[in-house]
Amino acid sequence: MTDATAPITQDVLTLPRKLPEGGRINLVGLTRDQLREALIAAGTPERQAKMRVGQIWQWVYHWGVRDFAAMTNLAKDYRALLADRFEIAVPEVVTRQISADGTRKYLLRIAGGHEVETVYIPEDGRGTLCISSQVGCTLTCSFCHTGTQRLVRNLTAGEIVGQVMVARDDLGEWPEPGQGSTGDRLVSNIVLMGMGEPLYNFDAVRDAMRVVMDGEGIALGRRRITLSTSGVVPEIARCAEEIGCQLAVSFHATTDEVRDRLVPINKRWNIETLLAALRDYPRLSNSERITFEYVMLKDVNDSDADARRLVRLIAGIPAKINLIPFNEWPGAPYRRSDWDRIEAFADIVYKAGYASPIRTPRGEDIMAACGQLKSATERARKARPRTGDEPRPGA
Ligand code: SAH
Ligand code: SF4
Repeated sequence: MTDATAPITQDVLTLPRKLPEGGRINLVGLTRDQLREALIAAGTPERQAKMRVGQIWQWVYHWGVRDFAAMTNLAKDYRALLADRFEIAVPEVVTRQISADGTRKYLLRIAGGHEVETVYIPEDGRGTLCISSQVGCTLTCSFCHTGTQRLVRNLTAGEIVGQVMVARDDLGEWPEPGQGSTGDRLVSNIVLMGMGEPLYNFDAVRDAMRVVMDGEGIALGRRRITLSTSGVVPEIARCAEEIGCQLAVSFHATTDEVRDRLVPINKRWNIETLLAALRDYPRLSNSERITFEYVMLKDVNDSDADARRLVRLIAGIPAKINLIPFNEWPGAPYRRSDWDRIEAFADIVYKAGYASPIRTPRGEDIMAACGQLKSATERARKARPRTGDEPRPGA
């Protein structure tokens, strides 16, 4: 079973902004203020700095340009100076898998040789990008594949924004010069539901989302961004105030006894404490409903009594309940609830007045579904026979 005693602490393993290659600073992920400071430090006159930030920002985040030489509204010498001191770097795509249902999973390599996964889920001409906030996770939810991997490090803001930029590159979504926007966006929504607990990497996630929301760049509104947390109670109010995005919470159980087993952070902040924080969220963030994620595990949390307890617990909170059929992974200690059980559960929740969509599993053939993400290096390491083991046939 799972190690429920794993540390529930905030790791501060974020990399310095300066990257080794030529000592150039990566501009991706800097906030406007940070960019301004960096430009001034590189010799930009202070009175010009704000305007230069605006120009560079537009090239990088509106047009998707990666080469300073293409920034034609800047003087040639200044472009050369920028190229000397800065870079516009996004994670490297190691592999891209496309599922039979169109879901795309990217394995990305980041500084230090680490790998994270990002998933694009298309739907009727729009699409949701599921991004990661950490390599691995400090938490050990017993049904989650990422939870079996140790935390390696937090992602930087640049690596979080970079995932969005990589997806837009692959989908060819940057606007062509001279062409207006068509209004349809391929990456129309972002969910922080990949690897990691976003509220344990708060500052980088906040800065990255501010870059993504900025109206002169990628310009995805705060209502199009959903942050999913396992329930890091002290950070929930900050999320409302400093990001203001939509909130999803990995609820998954209706008694502390079961939630302690499924989502061990519950031992630190139990259901009652969590619900109190959630009650305040809509007011603090001026946002709409909270999404309660509920993974359907056969004979564990899927009874009619659970459904009824759930609606009693959340009474008074503007909510929608997202039922997630458990996505099985090799060695998982649970099974997916039967379909008629999931529907019966959904029905009780629906009749109590809550939207209760059942999340259609997407990208299962490429292990891209919710909770299955885990770095490929980690999988390979686990699968590799130890020294002295007989090599497995075909391995
Ligand atoms: N750490 C954050 C966000 C990442 S997980 C969190 O826990 O909320 C995104 C969602 O997938 C969470 O609701 C998580 O509980 C769920 N999940 C994890 N493993 C799953 C699995 N194997 N099947 C279905 N959902 C899973
Ligand atoms: Fe971490 Fe979320 Fe997985 Fe729990 S469900 S182990 S918090 S990624």
